[in-house]
Formats: sequence, C-alpha cells, structure tokens
Amino acid sequence: MIDKELEILRDLVAFKSVTPDDAGSLDYIADFVEKLGGKSTRVDRNQTTNLISEIGTGNKIFAFAGHVDVVPTGDVSLWKSSNPFEVHQDGDTLIGRGVADMKGSIAAFMVALAEFVKSASFDDYKIMLLITSDEEGDATDGTPLIVEYLKNNNIRIDNCVIGEPSCTDKLGDVVKVGRRGSLTGNLTILGKQGHIAYPHLCENPIHTFAPALAEISQIKWDNGNQYFPPTSLQFANINSGLGVSNVIPGKLTCNFNFRYNTEHTHNDLQQVIVKILDKHNLKYELTWSHSAKPFMAKVGSLVGSLHQAVNNVCGITPENKTDGGTSDGRFLIDCCDEMLEFGLRNNNIHQINESIQVQELTDLTKVYLNLLQLVFKK
Ligand SMILES: [Zn+2]
Repeated sequence: MIDKELEILRDLVAFKSVTPDDAGSLDYIADFVEKLGGKSTRVDRNQTTNLISEIGTGNKIFAFAGHVDVVPTGDVSLWKSSNPFEVHQDGDTLIGRGVADMKGSIAAFMVALAEFVKSASFDDYKIMLLITSDEEGDATDGTPLIVEYLKNNNIRIDNCVIGEPSCTDKLGDVVKVGRRGSLTGNLTILGKQGHIAYPHLCENPIHTFAPALAEISQIKWDNGNQYFPPTSLQFANINSGLGVSNVIPGKLTCNFNFRYNTEHTHNDLQQVIVKILDKHNLKYELTWSHSAKPFMAKVGSLVGSLHQAVNNVCGITPENKTDGGTSDGRFLIDCCDEMLEFGLRNNNIHQINESIQVQELTDLTKVYLNLLQLVFKK
C-alpha cells in the first residue's frame, strides 16, 4: 500500500489549500471516491467548501471527518525544501505543510477505504467522508454546515472518526474521546476615582474586588471524572490604576477563562460567579463568550475497535484523553452516536518543517483499514 498513500499525500499537499481555500483538493477526493463506486455532494458557502461523500448501501454508517485546509507556511526560507507545498523526503522523514495536520490522515483513510471496498460487499457497509476547507479558520461555514446538511437529511452517524493528529510520542499512544469546554468572562468592577489622600470620597475597585477575587480563585470546581481533568478557572488579565501614586482608580477590568468538563454547564459556572460578585455588593459589568461546550461521545464499541486495531498494528494500547484545544468534534457530536479523534502525532503541527515519518503514514493506513474491518465485521 505504501506507494499509494505516499502518492496521494504528495498530491494533496500540492494543493495550496490555505484556509479556507480548498484549491481543488475536494474535487480530487470526490473523484477518488467516485472511482470506487461512491458519490459526493458539496455544501459550499462564502469562501468555504465542504465535501460529503458516501459509498456503500448498508445500514450502519461509519464516517471519517477532517479538513483539507492548512495554516500558512510562515517564512518559506526557513523550510528545508524550497516549496512547503511539495512533499520533501529526507530519508524516512516527509516534510510539507499539512502532512500531519491533516492531509496525511486523509491520504491514509483514502487508501484504507480503497482497500476495504475491494473485499467487502456494497450492501454490508456505508462509509462517509465529511471534509471541510475551514477548520483552521473560524469554521463558521465549515463543519457546522455539514452537520446542518446531515440533520436536514435525517442522517445519523453511528461511528465517526476525526483524523486530527491525536498522538504525542508514538503513533497509537493517544485517542481523544472528548474535549473540554471553554468559557471566558470579561469583567469590569466600577468604583469612584479621586485623590488618594481622601479615600472616604472615593470607592477603590481594587479593594472592593480583592475579597471576591480571592474567593473565586480558590474555588475547587470539581474533581474531574473518568475521562476529564478537573475544571479550571484562570484569570488571564487584570488592569486598574492610572499609573500614578496619588489617584484612586475609577474602575478595574479583568478577564478569566474556564476550561471545563462535563460535570458543569456554562450556565451553572456563570451563576456561581454572579452570586459571588453580588454577595460582595460589587457594582460591575460582566459579559461572556462561550466558544465551546464540552463533549464526550459514548465510549463504546468504536473505542474498543480502535484500541484493537492500534494494538494489532502498533503493538500498544492507546490512552483515552480529552485534553488539548477545541476541535470540530464540538459540532459533529450533535449527529454522531460514537465519535473519537485519531490521527498522526501532533508534535510539530503548524510549525516550520511540519513532518511525519513514512512508517507512521503506513501504519495509520493499516490502523484505519483494520478499524473498518472490525466495525463492519459480520
Ligand atoms: Zn487539524
């Protein structure tokens, strides 16, 4: 198989698909699926393009989800090759923008799919590819549009694998089974400015806020659970004062961010903060921005099959984790029963000289193929 996935990876990297331009790569994938006997639909909006492909007529649906867009190259002169959009091979190392995040994984899945359909009967499976050109950007017209399409067409995915680079030190060491939520509070404490020698005529927001700050920063939100680390609140900025030593400031502004797990909702976290601010009789303005809710897919047979496939190919058992930033899984969870993220290592993604090893690409292809065989085992 090795030549095939390497050839496809070279082709995919050559499309200069900097977010949100797919640069022709989605047509390339659609053609590939069509040659295998499948069909594709496009849902595009503004500059973003999305591909929904399917092959097979079975009842159980397995989907592979991912993105063809990549982040910009940065200073091209720092790359080992003169063109980051051409895979540069240096011994066993493959260098190029997107090889790990995540064109390598798409190439691996395409070859696994081609191998799988050769030996399976069309009505025993249904496999979908859900590929967007806007994951690295703000994603507004990307995966959310795919999810909308699936819902409008009453398509519910049984098993979904997102090919994001999930591994750390070795291919196969980590599978992501969920992600934490992210909630930011922007807070202004209102006081009354005046001469520092006449504090009785002023209200110092630093002093009025201090006890509330102490209380909030000492809360133990939860102990985490089987899959998630404890919820954490961190103050990121706090500003007050005019930069002089004789004026009591009129206001204090700060912001803080929650990385929270499935023990909480964003509403109950917000209420705890408001209650403390009110208890301390503070005058304040508070706005929230909620960028991601936490999600956790059912840990069922899909995770078991993936563990088995990784074990068969790599000889190790992956750890189930939920750490890291947010991903498109936050949207896909709404139409998938079981979902996980598994792909290459993430040690140099988005960096100059992004790279993977040839062996990792081959092994990932084998893992995906073995996974399809296990998922559709009769
Ligand atoms: Zn990615």
